[in-house]
Amino acid sequence: MSDVVSTDDLVAWIRAFRDAVQQHRDELTALDSAIGDADHGSNMARGLDAVVVKLETPPASAAELFKTVGMTLVSSVGGASGPLYGTFFLRMGPALADTDGADAVALGAALRAGVDGVVARGKAEPGDKTMIDALGPAVAAWDDAVAAGADVEAVSAAAAEAAAKGRDATEPLVARKGRASYLGERSAGHIDPGAASSALLLETLRDSLAARG
Ligand code: ADP
Ligand code: MG
Repeated sequence: MSDVVSTDDLVAWIRAFRDAVQQHRDELTALDSAIGDADHGSNMARGLDAVVVKLETPPASAAELFKTVGMTLVSSVGGASGPLYGTFFLRMGPALADTDGADAVALGAALRAGVDGVVARGKAEPGDKTMIDALGPAVAAWDDAVAAGADVEAVSAAAAEAAAKGRDATEPLVARKGRASYLGERSAGHIDPGAASSALLLETLRDSLAARG
């Protein structure tokens, strides 16, 4: 398996993310009904369906792919998650500019740029019970695995595992950002929906890299 991740590989990831969100749509909405307004699954599904339609015209580069994904999510998702995920992908694109394929280092830098963008936009800190609690540990694990010399499949597996742990660790937290924060202490005892969709994002990256022929 190649250590270079091509634009086609990244397109396959985004399609797999859409499929996973569709598959887990009711679960994401149920999480959001406990601490929000019961629309996270439908928000993400609607946005990613629009993305997949746009991808019928194959993007020429990773930068173009992520620009399309980001702009489409921003314009088609009304909730907080649209601008936040949109920013994530819009920041990933430029980090991959001028490269035909990305190695684990470049992809890690792009993911980090995306996470930094979400933080800049949403001002969430670790432990605020948001998608950052899955995304932050994922990029940290990515960098650690790269530093340990792992190949991109193993690196993405480590990141996916960290994201899932981060998702689960949101359960006891009291939300300090977004709609769930209106509930105060009553937000504790539920997994954050955005952290759950972010774990799917990293799990589908792992799975789509592992599935390459
Ligand atoms: P809305 O809250 O507008 O209904 P969604 O339900 O689609 O939007 O998304 C909710 C998710 O967005 C939350 O579970 C949380 O992970 C994420 N979120 C909300 N506000 C922030 C923020 N300021 N920073 C990071 N993530 C946030
Ligand atoms: Mg919601």
